[in-house]
Amino acid sequence: MIIRGKIGMSEAEFQQVVDMAKRYGVAPQILRTPNHEHQAFIGLHGDTSQIPEDAFRGLPGVDDAIRVMEKHKYASRTYKPDDTIVEVGDVQIGYGRPLVIMAGPCAVESLEQIKTIARAVKRAGAKMLRGGAYKPRTNARSFEGLGETGLKFLAEAREETGLLIVTEVMTPAKVEEVAKYADMLQIGARNGQNYDLLKEVGRQQKPVLLKNAIAATIEEFLGAADYILTEGNNGVVLCLRGERTGDASTRYAPNAHWTQILRQKTHLPIVYDPSHPAGKRDLVESFARAGIAYGVDGLLIEVHTDPTKAKTDEAQQITPPVLERIVVYARQHEMLTNALES
Ligand code: PEP
Ligand code: MN
Repeated sequence: MIIRGKIGMSEAEFQQVVDMAKRYGVAPQILRTPNHEHQAFIGLHGDTSQIPEDAFRGLPGVDDAIRVMEKHKYASRTYKPDDTIVEVGDVQIGYGRPLVIMAGPCAVESLEQIKTIARAVKRAGAKMLRGGAYKPRTNARSFEGLGETGLKFLAEAREETGLLIVTEVMTPAKVEEVAKYADMLQIGARNGQNYDLLKEVGRQQKPVLLKNAIAATIEEFLGAADYILTEGNNGVVLCLRGERTGDASTRYAPNAHWTQILRQKTHLPIVYDPSHPAGKRDLVESFARAGIAYGVDGLLIEVHTDPTKAKTDEAQQITPPVLERIVVYARQHEMLTNALES
């Protein structure tokens, strides 16, 4: 349930709503504070099934009490009408903020490799460094990453460059370890519907980059996000990474167009990964441009200084000069849209 205040609701009236929510045993979530220009919103976090709407409707300063009917409750725009801005360190990700570039190799391979790539992506304009220390692999004898050693290398690269780290966690048992080193935890496509893992990352503090599961619908994707939000972690960023359809002309079917549908359904920020749907390096730049055109809040791109020698996803990693072109394109697009909107 969400309580909407009248324009000009007083602090005391606002506080009365907060107090009543607590009396009903749910956590009041302040979604928008009251003032004289807009309506305030207080979300009720917890089981509201036994709470009558009229209990809140009768309070002074309250405009309405609205029950959220969407199954992906806390991820829905009904629950939170304003766009969420997720903060990773000093980087803000969300609608209306500058596009955030997260770039780096598919996998951390060595200290030298990750540091060299970190310097290059930083020069190109990235704010965050990606790189898997724990890699989910389709085949049992493929390189599965360096584990905790890889996390330490990422932390060293952050130390030198100031880039924030986003890296994948694959099991609930490893959440604490990965959260110790990372600034943001990535949930990969294979685990996009691993509900135990989603709950576990929901119980810790670091923001989460949630990829869509390979064959999930938009509703299922939002359901996954809601698992994390339900546990109390509000720092959820959705990442579109392509989906499995009957079309095998690319590795996955690009799904950047989900951005438009998601904007209506959810307040959460949206990042696009053009690398995994493309599957081939010569497609990545145009896929990234499509994501930019759809208005995503960030891009997650695989970049390697020597891609043909990469231990994982060698066919799709681009080189730093291509990343630089993508960043220039993104900034020009930003200027164009700002000019059109002003
Ligand atoms: C990755 O980001 O390297 C990765 C494994 O991606 P996905 O989970 O989207 O396949
Ligand atoms: Mn990869």
